[in-house]
Order: sequence, then C-alpha cells, then structure tokens
Amino acid sequence: MVIGGGAAGFFCAINAARMNPALKVTILEKSSKLLAKVKVSGGGRCNVTHACFDITEMSRRYPRGQNFVKKTFHQFFTTDTINWFEERGVELKTESDGRMFPVTDSSQTIIDCLMREASQYNVGVQLNSEVRSMKYEGGKIQIELSDSRLLAFDYCCIASGGYPKSSMFDWLKELGHTIEEPVPSLFTFNLPNHPITKLMGVSVEKAKVKIQNSKLEEEGPLLITHWGLSGPAILRLSAWGARQLAVGSWQFAIIVNWLPEFNEQSLREKFLQIRNTNASQKIIGKNNFGLPNRLWEYLALQSGIKDEMRWADMPAVVQNKFVKNLCAYECEVKGKTTFKEEFVTAGGIRLSEVDANTMMSKKVPNLFFAGEVMDVDGITGGFNFQHAWTSGFVAGKTIASLIPTFF
Ligand SMILES: Cc1cc2nc3c(=O)[nH]c(=O)nc-3n(C[C@H](O)[C@H](O)[C@H](O)COP(=O)(O)OP(=O)(O)OC[C@H]3O[C@@H](n4cnc5c(N)ncnc54)[C@H](O)[C@@H]3O)c2cc1C
Repeated sequence: MVIGGGAAGFFCAINAARMNPALKVTILEKSSKLLAKVKVSGGGRCNVTHACFDITEMSRRYPRGQNFVKKTFHQFFTTDTINWFEERGVELKTESDGRMFPVTDSSQTIIDCLMREASQYNVGVQLNSEVRSMKYEGGKIQIELSDSRLLAFDYCCIASGGYPKSSMFDWLKELGHTIEEPVPSLFTFNLPNHPITKLMGVSVEKAKVKIQNSKLEEEGPLLITHWGLSGPAILRLSAWGARQLAVGSWQFAIIVNWLPEFNEQSLREKFLQIRNTNASQKIIGKNNFGLPNRLWEYLALQSGIKDEMRWADMPAVVQNKFVKNLCAYECEVKGKTTFKEEFVTAGGIRLSEVDANTMMSKKVPNLFFAGEVMDVDGITGGFNFQHAWTSGFVAGKTIASLIPTFF
C-alpha cells in the first residue's frame, strides 16, 4: 500500500506492481485529485528531471540530502528517468539551462503516462482517504483513516509529500520517526517600498548575491520584481539558506555585485581607464559594462551622479559610491514570497532513519519512504522530481523483491 498519490507514490506503486505481479498495490490519497503537483509543475510543463549525468555533480544540487541521493542515484538516475518515460512513449527535451520537459510542453503527458501504467498493472486507487494514524502490530502495518476506516497491509510506502508545519508530521512521529523541522525553500526576497522595485522587469544575466554575515553566496541570473528580487541566483540562495533564514524570520541584509567579474579595486582601475579614454562621455548616457541601461542609470543616480555629468568630472566621493553600488549594493530583505513555479519544503523524515539502499525505515519493519516526505530537497531545475522518481523506484523495487513472484 502506498500513502500519497503524487509523483513518488505513483512511481513506487507502478514499479512495485510491474516488477511483481503477485503484489496487490493500492494508493491511498487524501484529496480528490491524483498527481496534483505534477499537473501544475514547471508552469504546467513539468520539469521532469535535469540533464546532468554525473551523480556527484547532480547531488550538489540538493541543499539537504546530498549524501543520501548520492547513494540512491546509483540505483535509478536521470538516464533511467529519461529511458523509463521514453520506453512508455514520452520523449523528453532539454532546454539550454539543462531542465528537461516532455516534448509536448504539457504536464498532462506525464500524468497520462503514469495513469496508463497504473491501470495496466492494476494499481488500485482510493481517493478521499486520509491516513490519520498507523502502527506496526502482528507483523502488519495497521492504518486508521480520518473517516475511521481501519486497514492492514504487509508493506507500506509513505509518499505523502512535504508538510509546512511540524504538527502535520505527528502521525509519522508516532511511528518513532524523527522529523527535521519543516521550513520553506525556494522563495524570492521581499524589499518592501525599496526604490529598486521601480525597475521591475529588469534582469541581469549574471550577478553575485551574498547574504551578509554568512558564507551564503550565489552567482547567476537576477530579476527585479515589483516586490523585490527573484531569479535563479535568489532561488538558489533561498534553498541553501532555508534553515538559517527561517531562524531570522527572513529578515537579513544582502550584498549584490551587479558586475561579478569585477571587485571594488578592479572596477576602480577600469573607471580610471574610462576617464582617460572617454573623458568627455556622459556617464549616464552610455553604459560600458553591458548592464541594462535602466539599472545603470538607477545606480548612477543613487550614487549622486547628475544627468549631464561626464566621466572626467566625477568627484572622488561620487566615484567611490558608484563603485560600491555596482560591486557591493546593500539592501535589507524583509520577508519572502513563495516561488509559485516550484515550491518545496525543506525538512521531513530524518535521513539517518531510512536505509538509502532500500528506502526502508530503520524504525519500523516493512515501512518505506519516497519523495518529499523525507528531508531531501533540491534547487529548481527538475531535481525535486528526480528525487521523487528515484526514491519511488527504489522503494517499489525493494517491496517487489520481498515476496515471491507468482504468475
Ligand atoms: C507549483 C509547484 C511546481 C513545481 N514544479 C516542479 C518542477 O517543475 N520540477 C521539479 O522537480 N519539482 C517541482 N516541484 C516540486 C515537486 O512538485 C515536488 O517535489 C514533488 O511533487 C514531490 O512529490 P511527492 O510525491 O513526494 O509529494 P506530492 O506531490 O506532494 O504528493 C503527496 C501526496 O500525498 C497526499 N497526502 C498527504 N498526506 C496524506 C495522508 N495523510 N493520507 C493520504 N494522502 C496524503 C497529498 O494529498 C499528495 O497528493 C513543484 C512544486 C510546486 C508546488
């Protein structure tokens, strides 16, 4: 029996039933919908996995669970995901940043495939069936649903996804498992009423963002929004800093280097060069660094540069301010906004309590875990689904191997 009709639950159920026809597999889903997150994932396109074919390299994209996925990926990796879907008629394509989507650009293609497979291998589904509590007794896993129904199974895989609150894990704590405190990951930074938000829509291809008084630093595309900052560099920072930033209630200072190929010293030298070669050129009129003009102008004005000011006339104090604003622009983040495209929860079942080779609980016999319910989460780019496929597959394969196959 599988608890949770999401990506991990389906992958476990289908593969267990496929590999051992003697198994009677049922998915219990609390809501009235199956694969709801797959449907909305990747903006409706479903970013199924990432075109990364090196396990160590891939594991570096998981702020939590890095060592755990390193082990599980040996059993089912990105190439296996691509082949699994391809063998079932779903071709994936790779975008320039490595994200992989179905060629149809529709998450429904993935849903249709999983539903077809579930039906082919007679996986049963019970909707509106919320598991309220469970215990191991008499060699069986006994389950109580919230409508008071009682069920008993030989094997159970918990694939109930992430929960935003620790109390929602209580039914799993009762089994003897430890829960790493859930905190949001993958969010954007709020800068309420900050003047830079007037530049909403402006993006920089490569900026370096550092969280003050920490080692957290990321380089990559940055997008200015009407509420603050977003883009891959910010989302990655939010994932790596998920725990630390939650402790500070998402109030912290960041330092942005809009020109990461420079530091303050080398930029000052570059300025000197421009002053020598382009002394009469207006500073605001022309941007020599490939930054979006609106951003260049904003940073110049913030530094005290007047519209007509020429490079030769820039006072030292203004130049210092401009260099600082370009290489070490400071702002205070006050709160977060959930990134709707790919929100995940960090935290969940403590990984030392799960055997990465089988996905079996080290606390309860014949109990397995798959997907986001465990303390594994990746940055954006298809990494969270890859963990769901991998852990679901390994759990399904182990369950299938535990009882004799009858034909
Ligand atoms: C908007 C959005 C877009 C995303 N896009 C991407 C993307 O493109 N690529 C990517 O890699 N990741 C993406 N993610 C993350 C990814 O969707 C999740 O990591 C993944 O779905 C986790 O799969 P899961 O099966 O573990 O959990 P879920 O998909 O959350 O499924 C868990 C299921 O269990 C059910 N359930 C919970 N508790 C119980 C209970 N007690 N009894 C019975 N049933 C229960 C839930 O109703 C749910 O259906 C996205 C997330 C969001 C929110």
